[in-house]
Amino acid sequence: MEFEVVIGLEVHVQLNTKTKLFCSCPTSFNEKENSNTCPTCLALPGALPVINREAIHKAIQFGTAVNASINRYSKFDRKNYFYPDLPSGYQISQFYKPIVENGYIEVNGRKIGIVRAHLEADAGKNIHESNYSKVDLNRAGTPLLEIVSAPDLRSSDEAIEYLKKLHSIVRYIDISDANMQEGSFRCDANVSIRPKGDTKLYTRVEIKNINSFRFIQRAIDYEVERQIEAWEDGVYEDEVIQETRLYDSVKNETRSMRGKEESADYRYFPEPDLLEVYIDDETLETYSKIPELPDEKAERFQTELGLSEYDAKVISSSIELANFFEEMINSGASVKNSVTWLTVELLGRLNKNNLPITSSPISSSKLSDLVKAIDNKTISGKAGKDILDYLMEHDISVDEAIEKLGLKQVNDDSAILKLIDEVLSKNSDKVEEYKQGKTKLFGFFVGQVMKASRGSANPQKVNELLRSKLS
Ligand code: ZN
Ligand code: MN
Repeated sequence: MEFEVVIGLEVHVQLNTKTKLFCSCPTSFNEKENSNTCPTCLALPGALPVINREAIHKAIQFGTAVNASINRYSKFDRKNYFYPDLPSGYQISQFYKPIVENGYIEVNGRKIGIVRAHLEADAGKNIHESNYSKVDLNRAGTPLLEIVSAPDLRSSDEAIEYLKKLHSIVRYIDISDANMQEGSFRCDANVSIRPKGDTKLYTRVEIKNINSFRFIQRAIDYEVERQIEAWEDGVYEDEVIQETRLYDSVKNETRSMRGKEESADYRYFPEPDLLEVYIDDETLETYSKIPELPDEKAERFQTELGLSEYDAKVISSSIELANFFEEMINSGASVKNSVTWLTVELLGRLNKNNLPITSSPISSSKLSDLVKAIDNKTISGKAGKDILDYLMEHDISVDEAIEKLGLKQVNDDSAILKLIDEVLSKNSDKVEEYKQGKTKLFGFFVGQVMKASRGSANPQKVNELLRSKLS
């Protein structure tokens, strides 16, 4: 039997507001344990929450970016559960009326629905060490936007594409640093299968908190395989039950963690300490103006700058890369060479060292200087690669590197002619053979002249001058 995979994703994005969702504690990461706390986020009796406007604004920006409706009225509810890192015994979330509903993003030409995005407060962290556990409440009360997709994704590849797009969008509109290692972009996956052609939804299994794209993909693949096997073995009903499973990246498997709660288990009820959120016209207008999004940028790179669809997509995939590229173009580097030197040469070297573009030792202005030196033939492309290698290790300017490595391209006819004369007189026997018709020796002469110039002669000039000299 052929199966269809059905995936829906829930992503928790930590908003980059300066302060927490309901108090004025800072949201900074890596502080001393329990130092970013106050009576409100410690849930001391009598302390009252006050909503952070900045979080509302960022939710509006997100809703706009994903073509969603932004609810003029939304409200908060209590989601009740006990956990040591949740001192109040409930999470303040939006259940009945979320701030954002009914959007979509486009992933490889398919519209993937976004059912809702709601604001909620994060919990703290439990830290387990050998014989004891500790609780750090610095993160408690940090604003999250939980983004819930429709079950529209049909493969783990598509799920990853969707996540990368979402990741890119939240970075473009600057509502989150979306740092996956620090937990600012966390994903839960709901996975089910069904016989191809069937339209109903079968039992879904939730896989919790997977913290890298690679692991998300593996976790989904493992889970799909497990469900298909259960179906084929005739034990689907027994083995695929609605539950929450944890992905173990070491063993590459998912394991049952707990039965999945239904929403009724959380005893949701309206949060009595907060008013409804109302968004007025002015606020909506101000925050629904958002910067250019990745797809728009890719489109513009193609129509205005003539990039290929592939290059445009690569460069616009992250805001840092797109900015880097645009800074190069704006400082006068040619488009064609900027694309190559950024995507092939610099990214290739960064990947080899496992560095993201944000940690590049070469700034956009330095790479632009290098490209301009190639554009105006001060150096050859080959010399450019040596210079780039050198600049990866040494913090000096492009001009200094050209000087230091002696790679300035020789474009001066008389200097090149001098080298040609030397080469030809040293190889008079070969010149004779050439004149007798062994024309393939031409390449040999070019090579010798280039060698004599230690790679610095302009190869085009060498070709031209040699040809006229030998004819
Ligand atoms: Zn606080
Ligand atoms: Mn949540």
